[in-house]
Amino acid sequence: MHQPVTELRRSIYYDYKIHQAWLASKNGPQVRQRVVIAGGGPVGMTAALELARHGVPCVLLESELQVSEGSRAIVFTRRSMEILQQVGVADRVTQHGLPWRFGNSFYRGQRVFRMEAPQDDNDRFWPMINLQQQYLEEFLVDACEAHPLIELRWGNRVTGLVQHEGHAVVEVDTPEGPYTLETEWLVASDGARSGIRSLLDLKLEGASYEGKFVIADIRIDLPLPTERLAFFDPEWNPRNTVLMHREPLNIWRVDYQLPEGETPEQALEPESLKARIDAQLELIGHGGKSWEMDWCSVYSARTLTLPDYRAGRTLFIGDAAHLLPIFGVRGANTGFQDAQALAWRLGLICSGQAGESLLASYSTERVGAAWEIIDEAGKSTRFMTPPSRGFRLLRDAVLSLSLTEAFVRPLYHWRTSRPHEYTHSALNSAGDDNALFQSGPAHGAPPANVRLGTDDFLLDHLGGGFDLLVFGASVPTDVQATVKDWQAKGVKLRVLLIGQVGAAEGADVCLPDTEGRARTRWGVKTDGAAYLLRPDQHVCARWMTLDAHRLNAALKQATTGVAP
Ligand SMILES: Cc1cc2nc3c(=O)[nH]c(=O)nc-3n(C[C@H](O)[C@H](O)[C@H](O)COP(=O)(O)OP(=O)(O)OC[C@H]3O[C@@H](n4cnc5c(N)ncnc54)[C@H](O)[C@@H]3O)c2cc1C
Repeated sequence: MHQPVTELRRSIYYDYKIHQAWLASKNGPQVRQRVVIAGGGPVGMTAALELARHGVPCVLLESELQVSEGSRAIVFTRRSMEILQQVGVADRVTQHGLPWRFGNSFYRGQRVFRMEAPQDDNDRFWPMINLQQQYLEEFLVDACEAHPLIELRWGNRVTGLVQHEGHAVVEVDTPEGPYTLETEWLVASDGARSGIRSLLDLKLEGASYEGKFVIADIRIDLPLPTERLAFFDPEWNPRNTVLMHREPLNIWRVDYQLPEGETPEQALEPESLKARIDAQLELIGHGGKSWEMDWCSVYSARTLTLPDYRAGRTLFIGDAAHLLPIFGVRGANTGFQDAQALAWRLGLICSGQAGESLLASYSTERVGAAWEIIDEAGKSTRFMTPPSRGFRLLRDAVLSLSLTEAFVRPLYHWRTSRPHEYTHSALNSAGDDNALFQSGPAHGAPPANVRLGTDDFLLDHLGGGFDLLVFGASVPTDVQATVKDWQAKGVKLRVLLIGQVGAAEGADVCLPDTEGRARTRWGVKTDGAAYLLRPDQHVCARWMTLDAHRLNAALKQATTGVAP
């Protein structure tokens, strides 16, 4: 019988809450579900909210009774915030989080590189915002519990799975014993140690690195801005790397690499932690200051992914699908994109507007994204923890040269998580004018935000279905008719007329573009140009001029993955 922990998790800044376990005996007989999500971490909950936005009800099974132990993912990217905006929690993250855009790398007491993440007046969100994962999960829990299409079952652990032709049977264990649940689709978001991956005997591909890191959250009052700090080869930890990040509520994350051969048990001994944290505080000129430990853990870098995110009726997202190194803030940030990419496809399939074959593009796109991230993360991992003598020689040469030579300094800059562009997706229109545009978001790219007013941005108006952005004063009549045809089939499709004030026939929304910002950011030179965005807001077609035939073809391709 599954017995989730009922003692409150310990934290000096976060008040944990025990949720009540969901018990089958109190809820009557179980019916077959459209979608069951296994794992109520940040990615599973985002998937549930996204599905609900597309009108699909789901049951969300969470093994534990409380949110994440420790702060874990603390850095969320702009694209994650744009996704979280869609599911209604971005405001709370903004309210509680610490935004930032600069990173500093130090070597031998000298700052050798300052990273500056681009920030445009057209963006609603900062490049990064720091917030402890418990808070983000709490906001997502509140949103899930408030949504009538989501049933969140605390204390429900998936222990078995049998897949059939058109459905799966899931064995769920609870504090009063097991029950079975049938579902058309199972979404596996049960984290890095995914039991569902093991039940299906699926193997991850990629690499695991030797280097081990301690992650320690301490409470200390440091008069420093919210900027990432990286120290290479510091005197107290020679040949290794130390990172520091400010979190809300005067919590600081100190993240340091362990000398070779040291075990996690040795590293987590209180004297060892104290000596090293004190040494790091000394290094930054705040030695002797008092601090208090909140949470600590040991991790190593892994760059692994499943080769296919679909296995029969089961679809993988988040850490269950891939394991990415935490430096570069890739774990949770990548998972949100999985959730968003999967949910709209399942939405179309569950409402009968698309066939199951649409899921092939989910796997291809997101596995492609994981490999791109693994490639980038591998470079930063090899720089931080050189895996061989050759890599170490090269890394050390860069470090010492950087003291005097500016040209090598950008090599310190490891890329942080960024949204994948589905450049070669089968859903991109084969017959549009993508290649004729000289700028603007191209095939597969996420949308570019545009400030329309003091507190009004283009992305505030998008989402929930396909969006057709038409630039100009009117929507062509034949295009209007095609839009109506697709809407009549049940496909959510809205028309936004950009550059028009007031109302216009065939436009659901008219947005002024008085300063021409939208045209500039989207590379539009003439009236009549248009973009088609998928429900996850990625571009799947763009035209210099649009007609009914071209729109029809693009929508067919985006909902089937086959060029008409
Ligand atoms: C020490 C540490 C530091 C990190 N720092 C960062 C960072 O700075 N930035 C970043 O982006 N990422 C970071 N990560 C990674 C980040 O925490 C994960 O990528 C993120 O939590 C993934 O979300 P998820 O929902 O896929 O999985 P998880 O958060 O692991 O959630 C999985 C959920 O599934 C539940 N579950 C497990 N098995 C079952 C089952 N059989 N049935 C039902 N429920 C089940 C679990 O209880 C859990 O709630 C860090 C991770 C760790 C461990």
